[in-house]
Amino acid sequence: MDIIALLIIIGLCIGSFLNVAILRIPKGESVSLPASHCTHCLHPLAWYHNIPLFSWLFLRGKCAFCHGTISFQYPLIETLSALLYVCAWIQTGELLQALIFGTVFALLLSLSLIDLRYKAVPDALSLPALILSFLTNNPLLALEQGLLFMGGFALLRISLSFALKKEVMGEADIIIAGVIGALLGIKLGLLAIYLSAVIALVAFMVVRKKGYELPFIPFLSAGLFVTWFWNDFALILLGKLYE
Ligand SMILES: [Zn+2]
Repeated sequence: MDIIALLIIIGLCIGSFLNVAILRIPKGESVSLPASHCTHCLHPLAWYHNIPLFSWLFLRGKCAFCHGTISFQYPLIETLSALLYVCAWIQTGELLQALIFGTVFALLLSLSLIDLRYKAVPDALSLPALILSFLTNNPLLALEQGLLFMGGFALLRISLSFALKKEVMGEADIIIAGVIGALLGIKLGLLAIYLSAVIALVAFMVVRKKGYELPFIPFLSAGLFVTWFWNDFALILLGKLYE
């Protein structure tokens, strides 16, 4: 129980940091300077206005100085990030592994949001996710499978771009493919990518706006997380497919 409480606190703090990163990295601003301030009145925040989740609840989503609305994104990302660390603990049962997996998924969460909002995928967040994904239980195997997936995706990208005569998929998708290969291995990794494509297709049919380019990172991340967290179920499904 103590470990879960610890992971929730770490998850909330990482989520809080990622909120700043989501807001500042796409604009090319520093994540450490200037100190946290209200986005409306620019008033610097006191430390007690900056406690993940609780400050937002305590302030009821409004700035203490100008009463401007504080985006619901802040508590949402913090809560989801804490949940990801708890899921990582449930799945790995080991503190260090839970921290590594939790951080990879929290980074993917922030990358998904940045991709949705700005159609950008900053290396400053995707590369740490890739490196961390190589530090799981079996680093050599993770590295091998991660690189294999990256190579596969790079080939797919080149051939698809050639066939369609336009550039498809970003370099960022290749990095995320590396994370998928490293965390899941070949068979489950392919299942995750298939799942991402299905979720993306459903989203595409729902949105259906002309000229709207669907960001792919949120779907790759969702496919990865679902396959990883429910891997028992995924393995049974794969077993049935291979029969
Ligand atoms: Zn304010």
